[in-house]
Amino acid sequence: MTDFPASDISDFPPGDASQARLVAHVEQCLQQARAHYPTLPAPGVWCDLRGRSAGQAHYGRGGLRFNMTLYAEQPEPFLAEVVPHEMAHWVVHHVYPGRVRPHGVQWQQVMIDIFDRAPRVTHRFDTTRASPAPYRYACGCRVHHFTRRRYLNERRGSQYRCRHCGERLHLDAVS
Ligand SMILES: [Zn+2]
Ligand SMILES: [Zn+2]
Repeated sequence: MTDFPASDISDFPPGDASQARLVAHVEQCLQQARAHYPTLPAPGVWCDLRGRSAGQAHYGRGGLRFNMTLYAEQPEPFLAEVVPHEMAHWVVHHVYPGRVRPHGVQWQQVMIDIFDRAPRVTHRFDTTRASPAPYRYACGCRVHHFTRRRYLNERRGSQYRCRHCGERLHLDAVS
């Protein structure tokens, strides 16, 4: 994957909710993260997330998804909170592969050390805690939503298979 083109986030006026500004903020967060982890791959960026979630780290696709409706409503807090939140998931996924909790100590440390943000799980856009099944799993045919209890069982080694295609379910995305 190629790097993002160089851009200066100061080029964008306050209130600008353009895709270019969002991508520039992702790039800035990527550079901050690479100061700590130089080999961190660049995430793809997709602006196709809908519904209640503001952002999502999508490991199946290899990048970050953002909700442009919520971005347009409050661009400044969105850039300040949602972009580092999701980028911190991206960092943890690559630096600590395996059994870590989505908003556990590793994620919290990345938020503090790299992005200088309070490691709050719920920012003003984040409604994932309200969802009974915030963990998105994939198989060969569809998306499955796991509860926290099921997610922890899977991380501890329980195997879940899709009753439709028979494939083992794997963690695909987290918000
Ligand atoms: Zn399936
Ligand atoms: Zn999150």
